[in-house]
Amino acid sequence: MAGDWLKVEKDTPWKIEILFLADRLKISRHEAFSRCFMIWSWADSHSADGFVQRLSPDWVDVLVGLPGFAAALIETGWLRVRSGGLEFPHFNRHMGQSAKARGLAARRASRARSRPAEKRSARSRYGEKLRDPRWQRLRLEIMQRDEWTCQKCGAKDRTLHVHHTRYLKGRNPWDYPPELLLTLCEDCHDGVHGHGQTRNASAPEV
Ligand SMILES: [Zn+2]
Ligand SMILES: [Zn+2]
Repeated sequence: MAGDWLKVEKDTPWKIEILFLADRLKISRHEAFSRCFMIWSWADSHSADGFVQRLSPDWVDVLVGLPGFAAALIETGWLRVRSGGLEFPHFNRHMGQSAKARGLAARRASRARSRPAEKRSARSRYGEKLRDPRWQRLRLEIMQRDEWTCQKCGAKDRTLHVHHTRYLKGRNPWDYPPELLLTLCEDCHDGVHGHGQTRNASAPEV
């Protein structure tokens, strides 16, 4: 899967198993490590728990491009023959438990992103709209019109927002007439919306 990833413990290249593989296969430690990484990343894409059905040692050798690799890996204990396939013992530990968990969370998030827009929360859709260049341009125009000054307290030295004075149902933030938009400082903006209420929770906000 594009963008998917593996976490490798930083001491993995220095493990005794890597030295063993290098020695047994007459390859460098770097090569032993990178070939391990190849087979782990492959296994990670083809297994959720470290057991890969129908995988044979011969196939592992083909996958990493080195005859004898699987046999040597079996000797280290990093690969185990089981009925019906091969097992990568302590798969989750080698893959990194938290990496795995975060990887799953990222996958869930990307599935969420690919859902139809109407299924996403109104709030996240609204957040996206506020990044729209059409809104970014309009808010700058309003701030310029209001001379970069809070229209409630007159502050010029605070973070400024552009507030929608009325909520027009179904309207995009940038489709409001300028007379319904007002430059407010952060504090006044919070005041307008009441304490404890997130500004962009319900109505169009900046
Ligand atoms: Zn103000
Ligand atoms: Zn507002």
